[in-house]
Order: sequence, then C-alpha cells, then structure tokens
Amino acid sequence: MAIDSFDAQCKQCQSIQHLKTGHDDKEDSIDKATEQLHGKTQIQVRSIIRKHKVDSAEYGFALFVCPQCQILYNPYSVKVEYDDIMLFQPFHKCQRCNTTLLKATEAVETYACKQCGEKQLHIKE
Ligand SMILES: [Zn+2]
Ligand SMILES: [Zn+2]
Repeated sequence: MAIDSFDAQCKQCQSIQHLKTGHDDKEDSIDKATEQLHGKTQIQVRSIIRKHKVDSAEYGFALFVCPQCQILYNPYSVKVEYDDIMLFQPFHKCQRCNTTLLKATEAVETYACKQCGEKQLHIKE
C-alpha cells in the first residue's frame, strides 16, 4: 500500500489541510510502522510486539472525524490484534472538544475545517 495524499482547502478561511491515507511501502510490518507512532502508543505497541503473539495489525494515515463538531482529522492510526482475543486500538481525541474521533466514512466535503469549523472544504486538484 502506498500513501495517497491530497489537499483539502477551506473556501471560508482559505487554509489548506494536507491529507494522507495509507502507509509508506517501506512500512511493510507493524514493527517498522512503530517509527510513525509517538509517546505512549509507540511504547505500548513495541511492548505488544515483543511480548505477545500479534495476529493482525492495521496501520497508516486515516481520516477521522469528531462526531460533535464534525472537524476532520488525519492521524496515523494503529490497530493491533494479539493473543487471539486482545485488541489494542488507541483513541484519537478532538482538539476542540475532547470527544473521541470516529473513522470518517463520508466524502471530505461533508466535514468541517480544523481552522474555522465551517463545512467549506473542497479537494484541490
Ligand atoms: Zn470536537
Ligand atoms: Zn476554514
């Protein structure tokens, strides 16, 4: 999987968000993907890899949205299933209202700009 990147510009405040989905080809294992993770998440994932049997792992940039204020976020997200029944999936929080973000399922245009909160995003060609 390669990274797919595009820019979304807000028609209201003109700010541009650089959005990415997926992960780099060289991050072909969860082991390498941990380099993209930060702080506690990185420590936890490395510890799972070291001490447990990883069943499956998903990782890469993904689009998330705050269900409260509809603001679009683009974190590097990770999900690790291990020891048959265990799941490690850190939550991402909205910087404005601290609500747990959900995976974005609609088109980018339906979500709000991080800068001004208006739903005026459009994808730049
Ligand atoms: Zn929010
Ligand atoms: Zn804006």
